[in-house]
Amino acid sequence: MREKLDKLRDELRSRIGVATELEELEKTRVQFLGKKGILTMLMRNIQELPVTEKPLMGKLLNELKQFAAGEIEEKKSQLLEKLRLQKQEAERIDVTLPGMRFNYGSRHPITLVLEEIEEIFTCMGFQIGEGPDVELDHYNFTALNMPPEHPARDMQDSFYTDKEMLLRTHTSPVQIRTMEKMAPALPVRIIAPGKVYRRDDDITHSPMFHQVEGLAVDRGISLADLKGTLLLFVREMFGRGREIRLRPSFFPFTEPSAEVDISCIICNGRGCRTCGNSGWLEILGAGLVHPYVLEVCGYDPEAVSGFAFGMGVERIAMLKYGIDDIRLFYINDLRMLRT
Ligand SMILES: [Zn+2]
Repeated sequence: MREKLDKLRDELRSRIGVATELEELEKTRVQFLGKKGILTMLMRNIQELPVTEKPLMGKLLNELKQFAAGEIEEKKSQLLEKLRLQKQEAERIDVTLPGMRFNYGSRHPITLVLEEIEEIFTCMGFQIGEGPDVELDHYNFTALNMPPEHPARDMQDSFYTDKEMLLRTHTSPVQIRTMEKMAPALPVRIIAPGKVYRRDDDITHSPMFHQVEGLAVDRGISLADLKGTLLLFVREMFGRGREIRLRPSFFPFTEPSAEVDISCIICNGRGCRTCGNSGWLEILGAGLVHPYVLEVCGYDPEAVSGFAFGMGVERIAMLKYGIDDIRLFYINDLRMLRT
């Protein structure tokens, strides 16, 4: 019996010694110490031994059981530790490795110019107004003194989404929406930057482009206020030496109306290719708000007056950055953004 126990001890030791997996170790444990394990069964069989042998065998078996349990437990913690180290190694982060390189973006020239325009006019006391890109025909045309069949509607080939709605062809509808909301409160002083849409596509026209609308309504506003405001704007935008001139023009929603030119930024008025030797560059349209428009929006044209202007942001950006094809703004060539 004693020999048998010694043999078992040796077997147990070598089995534990070679175990490299927790599963394997667990199998050995069940085989020796489980409910039907070898040592458990031997313990039961002690009852059948002669009385004189019982105490000694019991003691030896108990020792062996404790030995087995201890050895297995120790091996188990060794294996667990090994696993932990393996996992740690696999998840290890080398903080000295170089990081990922990010490409920094830069802002689009149109965004830059828009922000500059907003800055200049907000400094003059204008607030920023907004309106929807998909606009009702009423706000885009009718309320701006262009009833159905009005010939001026043809000047702006438009994208209709249905009979009553279209992608706005200019930012002028924001004038109407703002005055409607504010009337009869005074003064009104807003600029409305935003996207506009027309059926046009060549080197000076894009089907989507940006405008900034300006509107001031108060008592006693005259062309002089318009001219002074625009002169201040172009000098902030293009430099102190700029001059402007107003040429008579026609828009249905202003009366009188004017095209506004600035002295050429290339030749300073002497005449060059850019300005067609005239010394002047057209930059925006403007005028005094038509009495009809004031009335539609709830203002008394006898008591108040206003001026309005609309400028193409691309046009201004092209002049400011010397870009000669409007489509360059929209072809996503990164070189445009790096300059
Ligand atoms: Zn010139």
